[in-house]
Amino acid sequence: MIDEVACDSARTAVLTLWPPPEPVPVEGCARCGELAALRGRARAGGDLSGVSDCNVLLRRHQEGHR
Ligand SMILES: [Zn+2]
Repeated sequence: MIDEVACDSARTAVLTLWPPPEPVPVEGCARCGELAALRGRARAGGDLSGVSDCNVLLRRHQEGHR
């Protein structure tokens, strides 16, 4: 019974983690804005691999913020 509850909450955690949230551009950062604009353009054009490319670039770039 207890195990089942633990299992359920683990499943919920996985579901809420997937898909991973998209990186949000940091206000005032030119590079973030640029990548977010690029991502918006890719999405508008139906270029989903372009969108995920931008997400990867944004995420990688944002590591430098910390
Ligand atoms: Zn930035």
